[in-house]
Amino acid sequence: MRNWLSHLSLVALLAIVIAATSGCRSSRGIARQPFVLVVDAGHGGNDQGAAGRRSLEKDINLKVARRVCKLIRKKCKGVEVIQTRPDDEFVTLDDRAGMANYFGADLFLSIHSNSARGWAEGTETFIHPSARGGRGEHMARLIEREYSRQGGRKSRGVKTANFAVLRKTRMPAVLTEIGFISNRQEEKFIKSKRGQKKLARCISDAFARYRKEYAP
Ligand SMILES: [Zn+2]
Repeated sequence: MRNWLSHLSLVALLAIVIAATSGCRSSRGIARQPFVLVVDAGHGGNDQGAAGRRSLEKDINLKVARRVCKLIRKKCKGVEVIQTRPDDEFVTLDDRAGMANYFGADLFLSIHSNSARGWAEGTETFIHPSARGGRGEHMARLIEREYSRQGGRKSRGVKTANFAVLRKTRMPAVLTEIGFISNRQEEKFIKSKRGQKKLARCISDAFARYRKEYAP
C-alpha cells in the first residue's frame, strides 16, 4: 500500500500537523470530539486544471479554498480544518481521499472551477451517485442555495458524478464548481478578490449551517 505522506512536501505536512493539533477546545479546556473538515483545492502543481483566458483553475481553487478555511477557522468552534494542499503542489486524487480517510474526516469539501466548450454559466455541486439522500447531498444543496442567495450566482443545482475523490472518501463528500473559467465574465468574477471573498463566504456559511444541523 502506498503511503500518501511520502508524497507531501514538508510544508504541506507541517500545515496538516498544525491544523490537526490546533482545533478549537472548549473554554473549560476539555477536548470534545472535534468535527474534522477536509478542504480540497482541486488540481495543483503540474496539474493546472482548466485554463481561462487570464487564469488557471488551480490558482483560483487554492485562493478560494484558503479563504474558506480562514473563515471557518474564525467562526466555527470545535472544527479542525485540514487542507489537502495548502500550496501550489501536485497531490494525487488517491492521496486527497486517503488523507480525508486517514484523519477520519466528517466532511470532505473539494473546490473546483468549471469549464465547457460552449457557453456555460453558473455554479454546480456534485455528490457521488451512491450518496443521494444523505448528508453530502444536503451540504451540496446548502452551498448551491448560498451561491444564488447571497452570491448572486446562477445555480445549476446539485448533480451526481463518479469523481474519484467522491467515490474514494468514506464520509459525506461534495465537489463544488464555483463558476466557469471558460466564460469570460465568470472568469473575471472568480479570479477577482471580491468574487473569491463572496464565494468563500457562501461556502463557509453553508458549512456553518450544516455543522449546526448535525451538531452532536
Ligand atoms: Zn477541476
